[in-house]
Amino acid sequence: MRILIRDTAILRMVDQAEGVLYGDIAIEDDKIVAIGKMPEGFKADHVIDGKKQLAMPGLINAHTHMAMSLMRNYADDLPLMTWLSEKIWPIEAGLTPDDVYLGTMLSIAEMIRTGCTTFNDMYFEMEEVAKAVEISGVRANLSRGMIGNDTEGLEKLENSRAFHKAWNGKADGRIVVDIAPHAPYTCSDGFIKKAVELSKDLNTQIHIHLSESLFEVNESLEKYGVTPIKKMEDLGVFDVKTGAAHCVHLQDEDFEILKKHGVSVLYNPSSNLKLGNGFAKVNKMIGMGINVALGTDGSSSNNNINMFEEMHLCALVNKGVEGDPTAIPAYKALEIATMGGAKALGIDSEVGTLEVGKKADLILIDLNKPHLIPQYDLVAMLVYSAAASDVKTVLCNGKVLMQDYEIKSFDEKLILAMADEAAHNLVKRTQK
Ligand SMILES: [Zn+2]
Repeated sequence: MRILIRDTAILRMVDQAEGVLYGDIAIEDDKIVAIGKMPEGFKADHVIDGKKQLAMPGLINAHTHMAMSLMRNYADDLPLMTWLSEKIWPIEAGLTPDDVYLGTMLSIAEMIRTGCTTFNDMYFEMEEVAKAVEISGVRANLSRGMIGNDTEGLEKLENSRAFHKAWNGKADGRIVVDIAPHAPYTCSDGFIKKAVELSKDLNTQIHIHLSESLFEVNESLEKYGVTPIKKMEDLGVFDVKTGAAHCVHLQDEDFEILKKHGVSVLYNPSSNLKLGNGFAKVNKMIGMGINVALGTDGSSSNNNINMFEEMHLCALVNKGVEGDPTAIPAYKALEIATMGGAKALGIDSEVGTLEVGKKADLILIDLNKPHLIPQYDLVAMLVYSAAASDVKTVLCNGKVLMQDYEIKSFDEKLILAMADEAAHNLVKRTQK
């Protein structure tokens, strides 16, 4: 299949100095084969008119729990531990494989509409999530979130191994399987060590929650005399390429540890704010050379998976926190949401920028909107003025997933209706 996107503005996200180019993008099968000028003799099977639009790399949601869309606006304005133990965990205990599939498909519809082509998911019933990725055409790193101690939960390690065997590299290479011990406060040291061994054995990355709340850090200091990040270093977690979600409450030594081991920080500004956990010092992290990626976390603590909102918040919150309007400029926010995510997920040789030879994961933004006129600086426009609803067309792995605001890869209306019904039934079943 050969696709030509004609006459469009192009933000490749390769080099800030390059700015915006104008021209065509040619795609053959899953790859970009030309940017700017159409290659000689290129005959397109499908032409997309790119006029008054901007092409950029698909956004990468580096930390989420997609099926939690079924719990959207179900429990809000509660402290983290009350929210988890009294509201979320009882509901999650009642989730069926079908619920996870529908919740994930609902989120995939949302992610396509909001310009995201890749997500990094940690949840359970991951076979259902993998099926949703295969059917819908998006890209994902998937990991079974594991809670366990030295005697309980050990079967989850074997589940993860089987899931890796069944799905790693599948769906035309769009699925990568990682290993996910949930967090230091939900897993024993012995369990975490076993997860690390498994990850080394399968040659995967690790996806974990670290230092999300002050409570978690203080508890670790009281019980073990070290921060969660120091503890993970001591357990050998960072011997494996790791993506650490949150990293909100860090001591000076923690920053050094993350830097030393090349840990990527998966930053979730909306979720951290909504759960009252505060602000991750990502400006400092970036200054130190730590890779920062952007995520939404699950839809029950956000309450959407809109990466445009996260970029906007990322740029604004850090200026406010640092008292410095130059902190996280617009280009940096875009970079965090594209290449930062690709690096964190270990797929930066394939996606994250628009380059010849890379996978055709790209989105087209409709520029013909009142809040996007005039267009002085398209980079600033994307972060400070654009809305996710300006995303008009989405391609992933060279396939058109949405064109002119219409999702092509599955029946969106049907998924919305079925997910809505599943969510209502879930609450009825689990709330006594
Ligand atoms: Zn999370």
